[in-house]
Amino acid sequence: MASVILVTGGSGLVGKAIQHVIENEPAGSRFGKKENETWIFVGSSDADLRDPEQTRKMYEKYQPTHVIHLAALVGGLFHNMKYKLTFLRENILINDNILHTSYTHKTQKLISCLSTCVFPDKVEYPLDEHKIHSGPPHDSNFGYAHAKRLVDVQNHAYKEEFGCNFTSAIPTNVFGPHDNYDLEHSHVIPGLIHKCYLAKKNGTPFVVSGTGKPLRQFIYSRDLAKLFIWMLREYDDVEPIILSVGEDEEVSIKQVADAVVQAIGFQGNYTFDTTRADGQFRKPASNKKLLSLIGDFTFTPFEPGNYYLLFDVMNPDNFLLALMESAKWFADNYDNART
Ligand code: NDP
Repeated sequence: MASVILVTGGSGLVGKAIQHVIENEPAGSRFGKKENETWIFVGSSDADLRDPEQTRKMYEKYQPTHVIHLAALVGGLFHNMKYKLTFLRENILINDNILHTSYTHKTQKLISCLSTCVFPDKVEYPLDEHKIHSGPPHDSNFGYAHAKRLVDVQNHAYKEEFGCNFTSAIPTNVFGPHDNYDLEHSHVIPGLIHKCYLAKKNGTPFVVSGTGKPLRQFIYSRDLAKLFIWMLREYDDVEPIILSVGEDEEVSIKQVADAVVQAIGFQGNYTFDTTRADGQFRKPASNKKLLSLIGDFTFTPFEPGNYYLLFDVMNPDNFLLALMESAKWFADNYDNART
């Protein structure tokens, strides 16, 4: 049966990665495009998803049978801290419009995207899929976190009341080409790449916000893309699933900054501004559920010259190469990147 797969947020970091994988993996292969599939990638210029009418028109235009819903107001720590209501409200509006329109259009399957930010601040680690609602999220991003948590609540409600096949994915920190490199609004890796790039260009110090001590798990966008494609085809359960590297693969912000310094080839003064907030110290997430279901997925198929790289803490070279891809993409696309 023919499928029309609509990807919202298709112009963003994760959406572009899904498009890349679908277009570049061999047709008919596990992650490549299947013959009966039509993939459509939309951004905010196609429809402002805060608006129910624009959302409805988009569904009428494309008639999607499946939706991967990535669109969101996304930002780094400082952006989240400053605009809590905006993050709460805009994401609630976007998500409600997509979920309800998917219901009214009888969409066969909807996968929405949460984030590990949704988890409680005070929680036993590692994070797993059962702990989302077991305490308040960290204060720094409670607006974004509550809006994302609500998607899980809505998925269950749509399933119970109307039998909808709605589910959600929980990625850890993502990085890769087409990221948002805006110095105020970006996540940690693109922010550090941009800062370090400018420090090298201008001969100024490279100053990293915070102590550099917090630990995070990072996933390369094109590996994450494959996991979404797998979910679309093979995962049919309302319960969310964490899409991440293993919990033993946390790295410190300092390790990331060191790698960025190497990737950019920066040789100037490099310091940490310990007066800036660190955010949560660590929040390791378990990928046990994912690994138990996906079978033979390999996170680190290290092949030089190939984009399908994911850093591996045990092998820092892989991380460095993946970062170099991101840094190179940024330098090559400086004029058009989101800065
Ligand atoms: P980006 O910021 O790169 O992209 C956001 C996307 O959402 C863009 O395509 C943007 O469209 C679209 N969008 C934003 N507002 C609207 C709107 N009002 N109407 C329609 N489209 C809109 O995000 P990512 O790719 O990084 O994130 C994708 C998903 O993954 C999000 O749901 C995010 O919460 C989640 N996530 C991301 C993580 C990360 O580290 N990046 C970590 C964990 C989860 P346009 O560009 O055309 O304006």
